[in-house]
Parts: sequence; C-alpha cells; structure tokens
Amino acid sequence: MAHPLHAYLALLDDLRAAGFRCHPIRDYFTGNQAGQGAASAGEDSDTRRAYLRHDVDRLPARAVAMAEAEAARGIHSTYYFRCDARGRFPEAAMRRIAALGHETGFHYECLSRTRGDRVAAVECFARELAACRAIVPVTTVSPHGAPLAASSNMDFTASIDAQALGLLGDATDMDFTDMLYVTDTGGTFGSQYNLRDHVAGRNLDHPIAPKGLARRLIDGDERRIVLSCHPERWAVGRLALLEASAREIALNLLKLVLHRARRWFSPALNRSPSRVNGAHRRPFPKYS
Ligand SMILES: [Zn+2]
Repeated sequence: MAHPLHAYLALLDDLRAAGFRCHPIRDYFTGNQAGQGAASAGEDSDTRRAYLRHDVDRLPARAVAMAEAEAARGIHSTYYFRCDARGRFPEAAMRRIAALGHETGFHYECLSRTRGDRVAAVECFARELAACRAIVPVTTVSPHGAPLAASSNMDFTASIDAQALGLLGDATDMDFTDMLYVTDTGGTFGSQYNLRDHVAGRNLDHPIAPKGLARRLIDGDERRIVLSCHPERWAVGRLALLEASAREIALNLLKLVLHRARRWFSPALNRSPSRVNGAHRRPFPKYS
C-alpha cells in the first residue's frame, strides 16, 4: 500500500489546524519550542507537537518533492539519508533538501551491513557519518530497519559515543512514554507488516489510513507525536502510486517468507515474545 503525496500534506494541514506545531527531530533534543504552526496564545508545555521524520530509503526525488511541498507550507522536518555499500549518498537531493531549510541526518545500517559485527559496525558508522557530513550538516541519526537482513540496526547507537561524534541523539532514543510513535513502515500507518520499526513506549497498534489517522490523533487528544513517513511511499501521479504499491506488496511478501523461515530454523523465537528496541513486537499477521 502506498499513498498519494497530497494525503500526507492534508494530514499535516489537519494537524496544524488542530493546533499541532511541527518540528524537525533536532528540536526535541535542543528543546526548541518554536516549531512551525498556527500561532497560539499561552504557549506552554501542553502545546501539541508533531516531530516529523523521513527516512529516505530509495527514490530521493520523492523526498525532494515532499520537502518542497512541506517548505511551501512553512514546515521544516528531518530527512535521514542512507548510502550504498560504497558510501555514496544521493548528494543532489541532500543539498536541495538542506537548502530548503530542513534538518538533514544520517540513516545508518552499519550493523546489518557488517552482518552483526559490532566492532566493524562502529568503524563503518564513523566513516559513513563523515561522508554524510561532507555533503550536509548532521546532528541526529536514525536506524534503517533492513527487514530482510538477519541483524537489526535498532539498538546500535548503544554501541557508540554519540557525544564524541558530535551527535545530539538518535531519533529512536526519544522518550516515548508519553509520546505516540506513528510510522508508515509496512505500507500504511500501524501496519502489521512492520517488523522492526517500533519504539520502547507508545506505538500505533492497528492499521489506519491517513485521513483516519488525523481524526484519531486530533480526537484522541494526543499532545506529542513522532510522525515517520518514508517519502518513497508518498507518490505523485497514478503510475508512481501503482509502482509504489506493487513494490510494497512484493516487499511484504518477502518479509512474510523470511519471517516464517527464521521461525522455522530458530525454534526459540516461537517460545518467547520478540522484542525490538525494547518494544514488544506484534506477531506477524496470518496470510491467507
Ligand atoms: Zn530505512
């Protein structure tokens, strides 16, 4: 499942109309309260806030389109960029998005890339972070889910000295005790095909479309949320939407096959609940 870009923009419009202020992830760590949204009197700790995160996994042109549409609304969010195995980043898209005023960050996958070798992964992280910073500023990072890889990147930043590397924090290390984490991983918000992208705290626990999500957040009186949307899933035009949906279905089928294979070869997985980044993972959905 994929969605048209205008559905994402409508979601932002609905949230801002309901009083949410939009922030890049960096603002959480620096304590910047300004954000972007409708000015309101009596600004205080009760102000509704949406921290906007975008992991640019593929198709950086879609990230540029999303970033331009956000900037046109006066919204600045965070775009995390990953590199290929040779350390090459989508430079043109990164520079364009930084020039629009968005926060830019590093989307790492060092542990899955080194197949679980933490020593090699720490070296890989420092090297790729430096390469990313040679293109754009980076003060926050986020992990790539790598759902088809055996090793998960989700708890990797416990292995590094973030301060020594000049990092404010990792997007998954926010305090989610009172903050709802909403991601489109798996194809739609709250997807059961999301295997690893969960936080230790409050996660959306059932599938919901963008319009329904706006109502759920607004009527549910949510005060603080992290909204994580992968730009590749928010297409412009019918053909692009069809392509994005087809890719999502193929990826989810692959996840299903791999998940079943891993459970088959690792009986221990069948005895204890899976935990991802400190969070309980829901069982994979039945497929029929
Ligand atoms: Zn990713």
